[in-house]
Amino acid sequence: MAIKIGILGYGNLGRGVECAIRQNPDTELAAVFTRRAPASLKIQTQSAKVASVDEIQNWTDKIDVLIVCGGSATDLPKQSPKYAKLFNLIDSFDTHAKIPEHFANVDKSAKEGGKVAIISVGWDPGMFSLNRLYANAILTEGKDYTFWGKGVSQGHSDAIRRVEGVQDGKQYTIPVDSALKAVRAGENPELTTRQKHTRECFVVLKEGADAAKVEKEIKNMPNYFSDYDTTVHFISQEELDKNHSGIPHGGIVLRSGSTNGGKNKHIIEYSLKLDSNPEFTSCVLLAYARAAYRLSKEGASGCKTVFDIAPAYLSAKSGEELRATML
Ligand code: NDP
Repeated sequence: MAIKIGILGYGNLGRGVECAIRQNPDTELAAVFTRRAPASLKIQTQSAKVASVDEIQNWTDKIDVLIVCGGSATDLPKQSPKYAKLFNLIDSFDTHAKIPEHFANVDKSAKEGGKVAIISVGWDPGMFSLNRLYANAILTEGKDYTFWGKGVSQGHSDAIRRVEGVQDGKQYTIPVDSALKAVRAGENPELTTRQKHTRECFVVLKEGADAAKVEKEIKNMPNYFSDYDTTVHFISQEELDKNHSGIPHGGIVLRSGSTNGGKNKHIIEYSLKLDSNPEFTSCVLLAYARAAYRLSKEGASGCKTVFDIAPAYLSAKSGEELRATML
């Protein structure tokens, strides 16, 4: 019997989870829940229902795991604690500083309902966190580095679009090659924000807008661009739509360590290069939904993170198959 998945929120991740379910035959989509009018959503899976989130409590016995696909800023802090008492639940909460608080809220609710919740699943937090932990546990003496990109930063793209005179825009975060080379060479450099990443912006101006003024405002924007070397390109809306409509991302997690009093150096590197950030993130969410389902069957409850889940729980393959093919 396939694991019955519910999706709450049908944005980029919601669509990505639906797409991931199609390539994982041990899972099936039961329903998509939305805060918008259900009839306004066009989902791909004919067999699944689209329902208002107001009806979600009627689905507790028809869904094995609810994947909450709301935004981290305002949706997930409310949605995950609210629904963790009703369903086994997965979310992708990525406001790193607030993870402990979110964990505590979801844990209380999941324990109350006897359900399993796994929060902050994805790639960062998620796969990157796991790789940081593995590398730190193994190379106890060393230095950690995380580089992001090349990829689209949704937050920085939104910030560009708020600048007066800007019609549309996209921002890419790019790791600085020389910094990456130094880390890979085991030089353990101390890197400032500016030395690690550059920012590249593609901007469509409103008619009559002053390009020089817009460029200056973007480059000097505190918290977003002022600490980076930023390049601004002005292009047409057609060009932006044609060449910059994707949501690629990725990055590299490195630990540069040593053993034997520094005599021997070791580099651990984990790298992701993603054509679609949401589609990849959704694949991670679905693998962890499988784990939540299995843990719940074993009688577990409460909130967990990627750190608490043994890797074999993620795979559709049995322990026997894994030992025979992947060890
Ligand atoms: P979206 O903005 O696409 O969707 C968020 C919510 O907005 C949806 O659940 C949906 O809820 C609502 N929504 C979507 N489209 C529309 C629309 N056209 N009109 C009105 N409402 C809409 O966010 P993403 O799916 O891209 O990302 C969700 C979160 O995932 C991000 O905030 C990010 O923090 C996190 N994330 C985490 C990653 C990780 O590695 N851990 C990686 C990538 C993302 P509803 O259907 O109820 O209206």
